[in-house]
Amino acid sequence: MNSSTPRGPRGPRGPRGITTQLLHADRLGGVEHGATHKPIHVASAFGYDKAADLVAVFQGERSGHVYARQGNPTTTALEQKITMLEAGCGTVCFATGMAAIAAVMFSLLRQGDHVVASRFLFGNTASLMQTLESIGCSVTLVDATDMANVERALRPTTRIVFVETIANPRTQVADLAAIGTMCATRGLLYVVDNTMSGPCLFRPASVGAGLVVNSLTKSISGHGNALGGAVTDTGCFDWSAYPNILPAYRKGAAATWGLLQVRKKGLRDMGATLTADSAHRISSGAETLVLRVERACENALLLASWLEDRPEVARVHYPGLPSHAQHANARKWFAAFGALLSFELRDGLDMMGFLDALQVVIKSSHLGDNRTLAIPVAPTIFWEMGADKRADMDIADTLIRVSVGIEDIDDLLADFEQALLACCSTVV
Ligand SMILES: *Cc1c(COP(=O)(O)O)cnc(C)c1O
Repeated sequence: MNSSTPRGPRGPRGPRGITTQLLHADRLGGVEHGATHKPIHVASAFGYDKAADLVAVFQGERSGHVYARQGNPTTTALEQKITMLEAGCGTVCFATGMAAIAAVMFSLLRQGDHVVASRFLFGNTASLMQTLESIGCSVTLVDATDMANVERALRPTTRIVFVETIANPRTQVADLAAIGTMCATRGLLYVVDNTMSGPCLFRPASVGAGLVVNSLTKSISGHGNALGGAVTDTGCFDWSAYPNILPAYRKGAAATWGLLQVRKKGLRDMGATLTADSAHRISSGAETLVLRVERACENALLLASWLEDRPEVARVHYPGLPSHAQHANARKWFAAFGALLSFELRDGLDMMGFLDALQVVIKSSHLGDNRTLAIPVAPTIFWEMGADKRADMDIADTLIRVSVGIEDIDDLLADFEQALLACCSTVV
C-alpha cells in the first residue's frame, strides 16, 4: 500500500495502523479470561436485574442489548471495527450487503422521493432500484463518472445520491470527489457503496459521503465463508436537515439520528440481522484484510497488464491500466486499484471453452475471495436485465469478470495462458 493508505486514530506512541487495531480491538475492549477474541454470543435475549434498567435500554437512555434482532455483543464488536476502518462515527451490520443497501433505502426514503444513482450499478442493486420505483419513489440512473450528469438529474425531491466507487464488472470509477462537493453544497445525502475498493484502498468519508455501505461478504471477510453487510455513518451529513427522520429518532445529538433510524427501521423492523457466528468469522477474516488486499491488488495489476498484451484478448478493464478512462482519478484516490478486472476475448473465440479450460481459477460468481474466480457476465449475473440494458451498461456478450485472489501469481498467469491457448484452437 502506498503512503495514502488511511490510518486509524492515534495510539499512545503515534498513529496505529489498521492491522494493529484490528488485531487488538477485541482484547482491548475487555474480554473475560483474557480471551483474544470476542465470544460468539448466541443468546436471543438479554435480561436485567432491575426493570428500570430494561426500560432505560428500551428507551435509549442507556446502551445495552435487549433482543438480538437489533444486535448482540459479537456484532457490536464488529461494528466498532468497521467504524474504525471507515473513520466513521457508527455502524450498523446486516445479514448481507444487499440487506444493508435495502435498509438504507427503505428506512430513509418516502413515497414521492427521488434518488439519483449510477447507471453502472451492481446488478442486484439495479434491481432494487426498480423495486423502489414500483412502490412510488423515482430513480434516475446516470453516468456517474462525470459529476455534471448527476447534478443535471437532481430534482427538488432528490433525497439520496448513490454511487459505487469502482463499478462491477466494467470497473468505471465514479466522479467521487466532485459528486461529494456537489452534494455537500446542496445538502444532499451522499451514499457510497465502498465494497469494490474497501476501506483500506479508499475511505468515502474523505470525499464527503454521509453513509458508506460495505458488503462484508467480499474482501473484508475474504475467505468466502460468511455473508454480511454494513452501513457506516461518517459524520459528514447534517441529519437535522433531512426531512424523513421520524419524531421518535429526533432525540439527542442530530449526528446520531440517521443511523438510529437505519437500525430501528432497517434492522429491528425488517430483520435481516447478522448472526453472531457470521460476525465472528468476518472479524477473524478482517484481521488479514490489509495483507490480503495488498497481495490481491498486486496480482490483479500484473494479470491485467499481462492480459492486455495477449493477442487473444480484445479489451481489458482495470483502473490500474493507463488505458482505463478514469486511471488518473483512480491513481489519485485509491491506495491500489482493486482486485477486480474484466476483459473481452477477440471475436470468434470460444468464451465458454476458455473458461472450461481454467484449472486454478474457479468458475463462480462472488468476488473479493482469497481464491481467483471468473464468470461470463452476460449469461449469468447480468442475464435477467436483458440485452438492451446490458448494452446501455456497456456489457459485451463476451465479457469475463475476474475477481483476483491471493494465489502465487506465476500459477495464475500459467493458468490463463494455457486456457487462452486452448480456446484459440477451438475457434467457433
Ligand atoms: C456483492 C455486492 C453487494 C451485495 O453484497 P452481498 O453481501 O452479496 O449481499 C453490493 N454491492 C456491491 C458493489 C457488491 O459487489
